[in-house]
Amino acid sequence: MVSPLQQHLENMKLHFESGITHSHQFRIQKLKALKKAIAENEEAIYTALYTDLKKSKEEAYATEIGLVFAELNVAIKNLKQWMQPESVATDFVNIPSTSKIYRDPLGVVLIISPWNYPFQLLLNPLIGAIAGGNCVVLKPSEFATATANVIEKIITAIFPEEYITVVQGDGATVIPEMMHHFRFNHIFYTGSIPVGKLIYKMAAEKLIPVTLELGGKSPCIVEEDANITIAAKRIVLGKFVNVGQTCIAPDYIVVHQSKKQLLIEKMQYFIKKFYTENASESYDYGKIINEKRFNTLVNYLSQGTIIHGGRHQKETLFIEPTLLENVSLDSNLMKEEIFGPLLPIFTFTTADDALAIIEHNSHPLAFYLFTNSRVKENFWMNTVSFGGGCINNTDWHFTNHNLPFGGVGNSGIGAYHGKYSFNTFTRLKPVLKTPNWFDPFLKYPPFKGRLGLFKWMIR
Ligand code: NAD
Repeated sequence: MVSPLQQHLENMKLHFESGITHSHQFRIQKLKALKKAIAENEEAIYTALYTDLKKSKEEAYATEIGLVFAELNVAIKNLKQWMQPESVATDFVNIPSTSKIYRDPLGVVLIISPWNYPFQLLLNPLIGAIAGGNCVVLKPSEFATATANVIEKIITAIFPEEYITVVQGDGATVIPEMMHHFRFNHIFYTGSIPVGKLIYKMAAEKLIPVTLELGGKSPCIVEEDANITIAAKRIVLGKFVNVGQTCIAPDYIVVHQSKKQLLIEKMQYFIKKFYTENASESYDYGKIINEKRFNTLVNYLSQGTIIHGGRHQKETLFIEPTLLENVSLDSNLMKEEIFGPLLPIFTFTTADDALAIIEHNSHPLAFYLFTNSRVKENFWMNTVSFGGGCINNTDWHFTNHNLPFGGVGNSGIGAYHGKYSFNTFTRLKPVLKTPNWFDPFLKYPPFKGRLGLFKWMIR
């Protein structure tokens, strides 16, 4: 028995195979339609993001809607050029052939997103998928339903369902249902490491390529020579934006012993300056997504000494920006991704001390370094393997579409944003074109006696 959902996916496949999504004109039209629809629904998106995560309009624009507009603008501006086959050099043996790389759409792709930036983490990959000429199934998180509903409303109003479909519901049910009965051509997944592994396993059964944008524990190193005021200010913003529920937020700090006290004082100052003495009433401070996450985070509070913050309130899902020390590397707080407004602080005196802490959770999604020394910068950049990062900043690398965004090892596979999204959602199709006017007999058998010649030619 074929379920309605399976039948629908088969229809999407036929739609893709009709070739209608392939032309430049079609893709541009759809990107522009999406941009217009988002602009028309901007108020509804703000309301949804407030409902799900208590995001202010300004934060919603800076970290979600604005990023989607920026991604759309880049794709609309550059799509023609991205779609051009790329001419590359031809090796000596193949002269006078010419060589080109075409970019083929993939087919029907599945995009799965988490709840923490529920708008942009679903729509930014969608932009790459549309630009790549694909049909798309969008699976938003079931924990940010207000945003998922607005997205579904926008998508169904502007796109036929055989082109782009939103499938809502419990991921553990609907995703296996789709993946077991249908062969997607690519899975683009953003979420936790354990679920990422499940997705990867299901994809492997059908040899489906994946992009996995996962989480992890992103360290932030503050060297002795850093500008501590700037470091404190940028760490506080990068950590407590969206109440720490940011995949690339600094997860913990490793500060040079001599600067620990100063850094703490400065961070306390900026926490109060940004979110007032009472963050629960701050316009700029959101809420924890749900009670399950709230309980996990409150449990972490007892796994160290609280230096600042720690107040919380279940009814409003509020947890104060919190700094902790004396945290054991074997505690859950340091074994799991925190994904909330708790910031453990460790100290180091030698680089080896700091490295030993980082190596407990190797290959982080992000890495942040504060230093004024080029030597130290080179040391850290060449020593630690990480997805992406910043020097003297936190989080902002995510917003530059010229930088590929993705993880390494445990923090993910593949990358996207800007041109890299187009690359992710297309396949390289290399082609060698050979003229008829030159056809040396040396290339054809019998080959006997040509070994020396071949050795000379094939280098
Ligand atoms: P999650 O893994 O619980 O859920 C992500 C998606 O997977 C949701 O759409 C959900 O419906 C689906 N899902 C859940 N269980 C499933 C199952 N058993 N089978 C199939 N699908 C299932 O993640 P989350 O809690 O929504 O998000 C938090 C995590 O996402 C954190 O680890 C964070 O670091 C990570 N994250 C990563 C990035 C990135 O860009 N690398 C961005 C944001 C969040």
